[in-house]
Amino acid sequence: MDWTEFTRWGTWISQWAQNYHLTLRNRPVRAQVKPGEIIAQLPVSPPEQGEPMQQIMDDFESVVMPGITHWQHPRFFAYFPANAAPPSMLAEMLVSTMAPQCMLWQTSPAATEMETRMLDWLRQAIDLPNHFSGVIQDSASSATLAAVLTMREKALKWSGNQQGLSQQPRLRVYASSEAHSSINRAIWISGIGEENLVRIPCLKGRLRSMDPVALEAAIKADLSSGFLPTGIVACTGATGVGSCDELSLVLQIARDYQLYSHVDAAWAGAAMICPEYRQLWHGVKLADSVVFNPHKWLGAQFDCSAHFLANPEDLVRTLAIEPEYLKTHGTDGIINYSEWSIPLGRRFRALKLWFLIRSYGLEGLRLRIRNHVNWAEGLCLRLAEHEHIEIVTQPILSLFSFKPKGLADAAVIDYVNRVNDDGRIYLTQTRVDGQIVVRFQIGQFDATEADVQIAYDVICELLPL
Ligand SMILES: *Cc1c(COP(=O)(O)O)cnc(C)c1O
Repeated sequence: MDWTEFTRWGTWISQWAQNYHLTLRNRPVRAQVKPGEIIAQLPVSPPEQGEPMQQIMDDFESVVMPGITHWQHPRFFAYFPANAAPPSMLAEMLVSTMAPQCMLWQTSPAATEMETRMLDWLRQAIDLPNHFSGVIQDSASSATLAAVLTMREKALKWSGNQQGLSQQPRLRVYASSEAHSSINRAIWISGIGEENLVRIPCLKGRLRSMDPVALEAAIKADLSSGFLPTGIVACTGATGVGSCDELSLVLQIARDYQLYSHVDAAWAGAAMICPEYRQLWHGVKLADSVVFNPHKWLGAQFDCSAHFLANPEDLVRTLAIEPEYLKTHGTDGIINYSEWSIPLGRRFRALKLWFLIRSYGLEGLRLRIRNHVNWAEGLCLRLAEHEHIEIVTQPILSLFSFKPKGLADAAVIDYVNRVNDDGRIYLTQTRVDGQIVVRFQIGQFDATEADVQIAYDVICELLPL
């Protein structure tokens, strides 16, 4: 294929995309294929001769589309949302046209300077103090890994990268029992070792926050054992049922013991553009590092993870391969963002934020999030009135959990599978206090109250009675 055919296929894809979105409600949300069904339709060897684009597009429709789970479906209530709002998609089309590598300022000054400005827009939007600087990471997992590496290097007085960990004291990192599995991976990859990730139990209240008394006791016990307390990873809106640590207490403990602190607000951070939800992360200003994913609830096409740092110099000192760069950092006004993240290559991700925020305005984005929270609260109240449904955890923002009364774990999983096989809605299960429950969140940008009504109908209709 050459460029003379590009407009034809580009136009075809634009039309396809618009039609896809306008008719998405007619498709089952979760792919309805069996394992192996797609790969069986893909030739075992690559073609020796080029094929016409028409043929490739036809196969895309018939082979690929049945195997897609529709994350943009308005009745996607599983996991967390991954919104790709149309302005952010358009920006991504432009970016993939130019396909610049934005590792250094000079490899695309617009990308670097746009990133600086957009992250400051986001910082203001979620009301972080202006001593925070931001960088876009590919995922919250990467941001958390970068933060854990930084806490490791700080605790080791910058010797870990050079000397390795074998002669070092045992580093200890603290997180709640509800915090995300990306923390375990960061602990593995950083060489700290899972045995040194101290999971602190959560309190019984609605927010299931880390017990600050147990946290401090664990730090003291580690100190008296000769271990090296290194850092705390706190969470706002954990994935299971939305647990939120009490940051004003937990981050103050981090300060008292001079531990580096990172806040994982991958999902819930987007809601902080609404002032009324900010009490959920009251005290966040004490953090060293904060991550949230505009690629979840805010509408920026995956991938786009906003990572804010109180002292970016610590991160750069951990990750930059030419430390002399530090000497010019901040004085000549040039930032090479590849020194703030683990991969060297980086996409131009800030453009979709610019398109998105300008197109909707913060008020347009707030309206969507507020609707989702209100609808989730309303649905939870209605389900609570159903004689065969028990609410297990109350809504935290737009996430709550429930179960059909009296069902054992295996039967709850059967119920979830039955709902998802039906295709009208998609939801998932999680474990709460040892039992399997149904997890429900609203966050898809095109969802309407009518879609939530359908969710109510499906949930009730398919109950095992
Ligand atoms: C989604 C999520 C993550 C992982 O985010 P990625 O960007 O996929 O790495 C981490 N923590 C929480 C709380 C999340 O919701």
